[in-house]
Amino acid sequence: MSHYSYQTKQIHLLRVETGDDLLGAIERFVESQEITTAWLSYLGAVKGASLRYYDQSKLEYGDFQISEPLEVLVGTGNVSLLDGRPFVHTHAVFSDESGRAFGGHVNHGCEVWALEVKIEEYEGESPVRLPHAETGLNLWG
Ligand code: ZN
Repeated sequence: MSHYSYQTKQIHLLRVETGDDLLGAIERFVESQEITTAWLSYLGAVKGASLRYYDQSKLEYGDFQISEPLEVLVGTGNVSLLDGRPFVHTHAVFSDESGRAFGGHVNHGCEVWALEVKIEEYEGESPVRLPHAETGLNLWG
């Protein structure tokens, strides 16, 4: 187990513009504010979703799209360092018009309809993502 302990530095609330990219907008904000350690949550709606699922036996991602308007019931994620740069990792649960829910690891390509985001920024040295042989992922060292 890795353990990091922080005090909150600042909490940022954002509204992402209609038509913007969900992940791209968060990445741009994080880079512009030089945020390297944070936890985030969000809710709203998208015009479609671009997601990934990690296959634990093949150790690879499969990408999939959902091309219909969706609610963003809950998004969560974090910011840490990968190759010396801030890296946003986020997952979300979406629902369709009948309330069915599904979700995944959020890719670029989720076009925002409306989105409210909280980014809780922390004070201190950031977790660093390193290659992890057993999972094939870049995990906190
Ligand atoms: Zn993920």
